[in-house]
Amino acid sequence: MTIHDRAYLEFREPVRELCARFGGDYWQSVSRENGYPTEFVKALTDSGWLAALIPAEYGGGGLGITEASVILEEVNRAGGNSGACHAQMYIMGTLLRHGSTEQKEKYLPQIASGALRLQSFAVTEPTTGTDTTKIKTVAKKDGDRYIVNGQKVWISRAQHSDLMLLLARTTPLADVTRRSHGLSVFLVDLRGAEKRGLTMRGIRNMVNHETNELFFNDFEIPAENLIGTEGEGFRCILDGMNAERILIAAECIGDGYWFTEKSRKYASERVVFDRPIGQNQGVQFPIARAYANVRAADLMRFEAARLYDAGIPCGEEANLAKLLAADASWEAANACMQTFGGFGFASEYDIERKFRETRLYQVAPISTNMILSYIGEHVLGMPRSF
Ligand SMILES: Cc1cc2nc3c(=O)[nH]c(=O)nc-3n(C[C@H](O)[C@H](O)[C@H](O)COP(=O)(O)OP(=O)(O)OC[C@H]3O[C@@H](n4cnc5c(N)ncnc54)[C@H](O)[C@@H]3O)c2cc1C
Repeated sequence: MTIHDRAYLEFREPVRELCARFGGDYWQSVSRENGYPTEFVKALTDSGWLAALIPAEYGGGGLGITEASVILEEVNRAGGNSGACHAQMYIMGTLLRHGSTEQKEKYLPQIASGALRLQSFAVTEPTTGTDTTKIKTVAKKDGDRYIVNGQKVWISRAQHSDLMLLLARTTPLADVTRRSHGLSVFLVDLRGAEKRGLTMRGIRNMVNHETNELFFNDFEIPAENLIGTEGEGFRCILDGMNAERILIAAECIGDGYWFTEKSRKYASERVVFDRPIGQNQGVQFPIARAYANVRAADLMRFEAARLYDAGIPCGEEANLAKLLAADASWEAANACMQTFGGFGFASEYDIERKFRETRLYQVAPISTNMILSYIGEHVLGMPRSF
């Protein structure tokens, strides 16, 4: 048990109890059917944990990023997958920080109660990838509405969400002085949207992650659904990045602890050549090393969260936490797979499922290279690459 395990027991214990109702069998069956863990997400919503970051005045938990990160860590540490619902925690911040009073009063209490699901955000496009300022989806103002045309890819949970944040270009790239200008964020009502010019196509993928291609064809959004100032949407999205990095780091740390605990137990019990395999240092040391790296990443997560909650700039720490945690969970996953030998490949042990799930964090929501680029250029001040 780490020092932080003891520190947040009032959050850890009830989340552990909730997660215990959704064991390996549950996640395996959802995964087998390529389904969505509706019952789990409902339980997390009904218990109020998913609304941890929504201020109490809007019916949420009014908690900090530290506590929110502990909640998501516990979900992954219990063998679950926060990826099914984590976005509600961090994209809600865009509405909270940049939304108008009317927007906040209209939506936040309903998101907090679970009456409305804000689980989806649409940034990535097939032709532009990580080069976000070049996105081609366009929103053109026409009286009291915007008309949207374009295409998005990898838009997760769109078929299990009522609302979605959309980043679109409102001023052509050629007409702005800075490439990050002229982008805007909209709150899209997904209910009935397929009848109004939005087509969604699911993408089958390596993890059981509900994610989609979206096609906007003269899709109308009421002008009142613009969040913040027109043309300043990129900033609104960037503002939420630190929270996202810290929460994703916590999920990786949860995975890292899950993998090392599985490895530790199996290595201590599995007997080959008349002794537990963990007695062989060739088996034991990779697990010990992975644990050390998970612990180190965990400290960086709490440091980033502490700064974030104190309102102190934490771009460096949030990015470091995400980088270290994603690497540590992947290392722990590999060590676990190797420890289990052939049985690691059998679905009933959950290792192969979690192995695939934790691999995603090297790529999404932000790829490791982009974090290294942030550290190299923005933290260390080396020449810019793009
Ligand atoms: C399962 C899943 C769910 C996702 N959910 C969402 C979602 O809900 N909403 C959303 O908007 N997006 C989502 N994404 C998209 C995700 O954020 C992107 O896949 C990710 O940011 C990488 O973008 P890309 O795939 O276009 O890679 P590309 O931009 O095409 O890059 C490919 C590789 O090259 C590297 N690379 C590119 N340029 C450079 C450079 N200059 N220097 C160094 N390396 C470079 C990248 O890091 C990456 O490893 C999801 C992706 C997946 C796989």
